[in-house]
Amino acid sequence: MKDYLKILKFLKPHRMLFIPAVVCMGFSALFDGVTITMIAPLSDRVLSDGKIIIPFNNLPPFLASLLDKTNNLPRPELLNYIAFTILALFLLKGFFFFWQSYLMSNIGQRAVRDMRLRLYQKFQDLSLDYYSKKRSGELISRITNDVMLVENAVSYGVTDLIYQTLQVAFFTFLIFFIHWKFAFISFILFPLVAGPMVTIGRMLKKLARSSQEKMADINSLLFETISGVRIVKAFCMEEYETKRFADHNKDFYKINMKSIRRNLILSPLTEFIGAACGITIFFLGVRNVIDGSISFGTFGLFLGGLFSLIRPCKKLSGVNAIIQKAISASERIHDVLETESSIKEKKDAATISGINKTIEFKDVWFRYEEDTADVLKDINIKIKAGELIAIVGPTGAGKSTLVNLIPRFYDVTKGRISIDGVNLKDMNTKSLRSLIAVVTQETILFNDTVKANISYGSGDVKDDLIKNAAEMAFAHNFIMKMPKDYNTIVGDRGFKLSGGEKQRLTIARAILKNPPILILDEATSQLDSESERYVQEALDRLVQNRTVFCIAHRLSTIRKADRIIVLDDGNIVDIGKHEDLLSKSGLYKRLYETQFKM
Ligand code: ADP
Repeated sequence: MKDYLKILKFLKPHRMLFIPAVVCMGFSALFDGVTITMIAPLSDRVLSDGKIIIPFNNLPPFLASLLDKTNNLPRPELLNYIAFTILALFLLKGFFFFWQSYLMSNIGQRAVRDMRLRLYQKFQDLSLDYYSKKRSGELISRITNDVMLVENAVSYGVTDLIYQTLQVAFFTFLIFFIHWKFAFISFILFPLVAGPMVTIGRMLKKLARSSQEKMADINSLLFETISGVRIVKAFCMEEYETKRFADHNKDFYKINMKSIRRNLILSPLTEFIGAACGITIFFLGVRNVIDGSISFGTFGLFLGGLFSLIRPCKKLSGVNAIIQKAISASERIHDVLETESSIKEKKDAATISGINKTIEFKDVWFRYEEDTADVLKDINIKIKAGELIAIVGPTGAGKSTLVNLIPRFYDVTKGRISIDGVNLKDMNTKSLRSLIAVVTQETILFNDTVKANISYGSGDVKDDLIKNAAEMAFAHNFIMKMPKDYNTIVGDRGFKLSGGEKQRLTIARAILKNPPILILDEATSQLDSESERYVQEALDRLVQNRTVFCIAHRLSTIRKADRIIVLDDGNIVDIGKHEDLLSKSGLYKRLYETQFKM
């Protein structure tokens, strides 16, 4: 029950729609149920010219007079009334059914719309460490699959839960009213029908969870292999990936089939037991009809009421499965929504508008997770505004980690990083990041126009400025050759552009943003020499008049650098200019000889 209430929580913001929806449900269920009572006059009066006998001593006055009138009306006239009443009941039921379904679906759609947006906002808000712990497919599955499961429960599960419960209440009342003894006997037999439903329902809940987990596995596998299709092909891993996919797919199939078998067995089993109970009541009842203590039509109505209980009970057991699925989905959704970003901003955080003097790393230690090794160890360095700092070191030395601390993608574990004496943790993160442009090896372009890609993060800027930035990045000429020049849509993840062109677009983006601090991860990818020259010249323009941190892979960059930081296993092992470092016979010299001197 507590679980069910959790789902009702999603309805809370939409209670203004929920109340009329429940009222409509009530009327719809009532009119649906009342239709069955026409059995009694039709059978006892119209078809057999007898009298309706209800074995109930103290009939309420309005029912007693209605019964009296019905018993005395001429049969053809009564038939007209019955026909008219049935039609009217169907019409009313249909009317209220439409409104209850419409309102409940609307609530369901609103609930998922809001939830999807809240999740998306949360995804934008969460810091990078969260993303490195979770698989992208899993996160996408929260917004697509899980949200849909909750929608299903809200639109259909909750409707059925209320509607079918009302029907159960109505028919239970009806059969107890007509013959409480028979009704009582039926209810003693009832656990026989309900027992298997509960057991199988529990199994279904477990299976639903494994099925969703498997689907999430499949989603992440899909995401990984589709976005990494080039790597898969380059390493001839198609067969391996297909086999991996086939394994997951097969497991998913097995779980689903198990769940389908349980689901399918439930229906004939409960129907059979239900029928056996029905027959028992039937025998007892017909004996009462024979001795005249109840009319045939009234007993027929009793049986009708009893059998009418089966459908809502069955639907309620289905509701259980829908709601159980939604509950596990909503738990996963709440897990995400309740995760706090590890980058917290102080209430009185200072807004900064530029860098005047220095960026300082003071006794900085960093590790990604609590129980892992330190990735940066006791880093101390003071960088003057306007310096070009090259960072070199073997793979895994901590170069990317070091530069990622500057825009506060991660917080230092110990020590402090400050700009002009202000600790990054005391700054407004947005104002800090607006001072920084990041140009990474992996060129990230969005599926949007060239113009939108260049002005990404710069707000609404004039076309002239975008064109200037593109010219400075040596991108204007190739853009003009594109089908709709600046309005051409860049393909999914920039597939329609060459590597060098993509890089120049991201350089144009950074030029347009014109930030005082630039973080540059020089590409190691081999471009053809002409592209390489353009990219290099574009970068030379980009680095002018800024404080630059460059993870350097090119000799020309390290030669130009004001200082070079040599990192090894998280330690700064040397700092200096190219010639000075080269004169020592340390790590730098070895790196120079293996990586740069080509
Ligand atoms: P570099 O840029 O010098 O190649 P990195 O800064 O990328 O080195 O990595 C330094 C160390 O930190 C490596 O051992 C790497 O495995 C680890 N590392 C990098 N990113 C993460 C992450 N998101 N989570 C956990 N460990 C990471």
